[in-house]
Amino acid sequence: MKLVFATNNLNKLKEVQGLIPENIKLLSLTDIGCFEDIPETKNSIEANAIQKATYIKDNYGYDCFTDDTGLEVDALHGEPGVFSARYAGEQRNANDNMDKLLDALKKQTNRNAQFKTVIALHFNNKLQTFTGICTGEIIKVKQGENGFGYDPIFKPNGFELTFAEMDLSVKNKIGHRGKAIQLLIEFLNT
Ligand code: IMP
Repeated sequence: MKLVFATNNLNKLKEVQGLIPENIKLLSLTDIGCFEDIPETKNSIEANAIQKATYIKDNYGYDCFTDDTGLEVDALHGEPGVFSARYAGEQRNANDNMDKLLDALKKQTNRNAQFKTVIALHFNNKLQTFTGICTGEIIKVKQGENGFGYDPIFKPNGFELTFAEMDLSVKNKIGHRGKAIQLLIEFLNT
């Protein structure tokens, strides 16, 4: 049985392949000859994940799963949310995005936020989603060199380090994406 993971990150692919039943073979976008930009035009994280998975299913015929992530900040009523990647503009630059967010929160005492990952899965003619959430706070100054995106300014609840100061293994265990992937894996194993 073949299942597309809509990514070209071979490390991610290998990691998930090692956790699911052997009779399911994971394929990347390159494996199926998908080189175009997959549309991501909806206005929620869930809807974008579903749009991308459905695009692969409709255009390539494979069962597939996709993930979409956003950072939701309480004081900004959930922004940047679905716009996290291009919060500070189409250049999709992580530093610009963090600077814009720090500026927007300059006078805020409520720094609560959460990362949310939604995985959308088309499997055996059914569509379902798996959601992983990691709550925390936006600190005032960037700290740490690991990770990517907003990691240097996000400190998960219960930890004294930002995601960018943690080992990737710890982030994967407590993080939004890891939690959503765990739910997907539990489903595929039942
Ligand atoms: P995507 O849906 O994985 O492309 O994520 C959207 C945007 O959210 C990315 O461009 C990143 O800026 C941000 N993002 C996603 N996941 C993480 C994470 O684990 N840490 C920090 N930022 C993230």
